[in-house]
Amino acid sequence: MPRPILATVHTEALRHNLARARHAGGDARVWAVVKANAYGHGIERAFEGLRGADGFALLDLAEAERLRALDWRGPILLLEGVFEPRDLELCSRLGLWHAVHCQEQIDWLAAHKTQVPHRVFLKLNSGMNRLGFKPDAFRSAWARLNALPQVDEISFMTHFSDADGPRGIAHQVAAFEAVTRDLPGERSLCNSAATLRHAGSPLAAGGQPQTLAADWVRAGIMVYGGAPDHPARTAADWDLKPAMTLSSRLIGVQQLAAGDSVGYGSAFVAPHPMQVGVVACGYADGYPRHASGSAASGGIGGPVLVDGVRTTLLGRVSMDMLAVDLSPVLAAGRHAGLGAEVVLWGRSASGAVLGADEVAHAAGTIGYELMCAVAQRVPFAVD
Ligand SMILES: *Cc1c(COP(=O)(O)O)cnc(C)c1O
Repeated sequence: MPRPILATVHTEALRHNLARARHAGGDARVWAVVKANAYGHGIERAFEGLRGADGFALLDLAEAERLRALDWRGPILLLEGVFEPRDLELCSRLGLWHAVHCQEQIDWLAAHKTQVPHRVFLKLNSGMNRLGFKPDAFRSAWARLNALPQVDEISFMTHFSDADGPRGIAHQVAAFEAVTRDLPGERSLCNSAATLRHAGSPLAAGGQPQTLAADWVRAGIMVYGGAPDHPARTAADWDLKPAMTLSSRLIGVQQLAAGDSVGYGSAFVAPHPMQVGVVACGYADGYPRHASGSAASGGIGGPVLVDGVRTTLLGRVSMDMLAVDLSPVLAAGRHAGLGAEVVLWGRSASGAVLGADEVAHAAGTIGYELMCAVAQRVPFAVD
């Protein structure tokens, strides 16, 4: 029998969450963002649940090839554009749309020999300061692109740094609006956080009444069932369902006496007699070691479900195992013996849900990171 750990991708949850993105985006078309191998879910595994999207957005040309190999004929957008001139040949061959964020990418286009003009998304750096043209360089970049026979339609995009937080997006929206106002073309501004929190607010593009959702929203974490603004809001608040369950089983049960400890560093010491379950999951599976119990927390770590009952980690997460408190499981009269189901995040067979966001929060990170970090050795299934 293989080790009992398993990651399951939920097709129905992806469909549901995509529908939520569509609803929140109003009239906008929806890019399902599938970079990083569909946020760790696997492009091929997530495809069935996401094929209702209007397009797929990603970074890696090899991932774009995989989508075409799935027979996806619709739009694919390279969010960072091309990395070197010869990438443009693949764009021509596969009909990829690509972001243009710097002068060099325009130089490469100008030198590119193609029969098929490219659809490009000219990217504005509206304040994030990662990629994109600064406002004062944006219009000349547009004029250069517009003069190239290699370029077909020019659309506009920008990316928000604070759509999930108190600083908000108004300053970036104003920068985008000021520089694109009278330019013809489609627009894309919103990631998940902006789609859920701001998409309905007005964007006065080209003097037309338009909402911030504009022509395209770029839905990433929300289609995988993560709340972009956890813990201010939870996935349940946004009516999102986990698209991945990381589950395992109890492979050991220990009866502790008062004063007994668990695991490396004796980080948890039992205050009274209790039962502890040992789970086949550790940091070598991609589970965050920072969810361990620490001295500051009395050795009590992050949340976990055992047979659908919420309980906590005890002591340190090790490479292949972690320990959990079985007291609440026993108190609920549920299965707390060898082979009992453990959900590290996602949905238990009983229907109980533990969001990756919550586990991530306990580990001082975000759900995105947990989803992307599930290790190679973990087998996957699709339901
Ligand atoms: C990753 C990414 C997104 C999606 O962000 P989420 O927060 O996951 O919705 C949108 N736009 C760009 C440019 C991205 O890189």
